[in-house]
Parts: sequence; structure tokens; C-alpha cells
Amino acid sequence: MQRLTVKNNVNPDAAYGVFSEDELTRSGEIEPHNIILTTNKECPFKCVMCDLWQNTLDERVDDGVVAKQVEDALASLPEASHLKLYNAGSFFDRQSIPKQDTFQIADLIDNYETLIVEAHPKIIGQSCFEFAEYLGPQLDVAMGLETVDPEVLPKLNKSMTLDDFERATHDLLEHDIFVRAFVLLRTPWHTEEEGAYWAKESIDFAHSIGVECVSVIPLRQNPRHIYEAFIPPRREVLDEVVSYGLSKQKGRVFGDAWDDA
Ligand code: SF4
Repeated sequence: MQRLTVKNNVNPDAAYGVFSEDELTRSGEIEPHNIILTTNKECPFKCVMCDLWQNTLDERVDDGVVAKQVEDALASLPEASHLKLYNAGSFFDRQSIPKQDTFQIADLIDNYETLIVEAHPKIIGQSCFEFAEYLGPQLDVAMGLETVDPEVLPKLNKSMTLDDFERATHDLLEHDIFVRAFVLLRTPWHTEEEGAYWAKESIDFAHSIGVECVSVIPLRQNPRHIYEAFIPPRREVLDEVVSYGLSKQKGRVFGDAWDDA
């Protein structure tokens, strides 16, 4: 496995992604969602399949910097009821987004109905629940379930077990916070058939523990971990897995087709 570590030259004074896209809401309507990808310190977990590090910084930003990124980004976005605030890590990781910034952001987005953030299951705790209580919009937390394949999950360096994921989901739901799960399609240790099988099993597991929304992510090559035998999953397989998830009628199931939309 060859290892490359060159990051993109991101600007700490600006979110590295600001855009809007339509998505199906919990109530069954397709509505615009504003999306802000903040620029901050790299996630400490360093999962082997994750390529989000490419748009991160090596150092923690000063207090107020991420809140200002969000304020500037909001000013350039169209009106919408739903906001995704993804930080290439965990929203409640204080090295990524200082606590004060999270509350400043809450004050800035009081007019939204929904806020979706991402977090590692092990970071879910009191700081998340305090934030949800303070927040005006409904909070949804997206977490990487990745795969329920017991052979492969430990190979991802995620530092997470299925029990960790289930516990975090249970705690979030107890605090009236909705959960969405990211499920990988075809890791480097799966054939195409195995990849589809384990993605379907992962969707079923997520639904069985109360996850309302699942997003299936076809694995991409990670410049830090070049998988020699890597073959990206075909679009037809993604469609098959998403159709399977939808057929269960347990909640929303999305497929992330990357640029092949
Ligand atoms: S926890 Fe999430 S953001 Fe952090 S390295 Fe793993 S997949 Fe990437």
C-alpha cells in the first residue's frame, strides 16, 4: 500500500464547500438543502477509507474562525429550510470546531428547520445533547456505520464496534435527535457481490436500531491508502442496493453517485 499525504491548499478563513442541492425530507417532500463544508483541523480517527483529510488543516483554528466561515457562507446561500454542516470530522470534536463556535453557529441558523451535522459515534455525549437543547432547528446527526461485516469493520481503523454505533444511536434518539448512517459500498476487501451483500446487511442493521435515513457511499480510491486491487462499485450495484433498502420501507435510503449523478 503506497501512502501519499499531500493535502489541498485550503483557506482557513473560508468554508471549502458551499452549495445547495435538493434532497428528500423526512416528511416526503423534495426540498433544497444548503450545504457548508467547513475548513478545520483533520479528524483524529484517520479511518483507512476516508479521503476527507484532503481538505483539512494540520492545526486547530482559533476560536470564532469556523463560526465566521459559516456566517459568510450563509450570506451567499439561497433561502432553504435545511442545512448540512459537514466538517470532515466530528462537529463535537473541539479540536475541529471549538464549543463556543457551535453555539455561535446555532444563533446564526435559527431560521432553519433542520440542521444535519456529522460525528463519530464515540464522540456522542453530553456536549451533543446540550447543543441539541440549545439549537432552534431539529438536529440530525450523521454517523459512519460503514459496514456490519465483522471481518472488515476492524480493518477500517474506525475505532468503533457495532455496539458503539448502536449505543450512540440509542442515546441520540433518547434525546429526540434523528440519526442518519453512512454505509460503504464495496470495501477493498469485498468482491462486487460481497460488497452489495454487506451494504444491504448494513442497511437492515441501521433500520433495526432506529436509524431513519441511510446514505450508501460507493468507496473511492483514497490517495493516502492506494488499494492495489481496488475496483470501484458499478452504478448498477449502487442502484440495486438503494432499491433493496427502499423496498424495506423503513426510512429514507440515498445513494451517493459522486459526480455520476
Ligand atoms: S471518523 Fe469520519 S471523518 Fe474521521 S476519519 Fe473516520 S470516516 Fe473520516
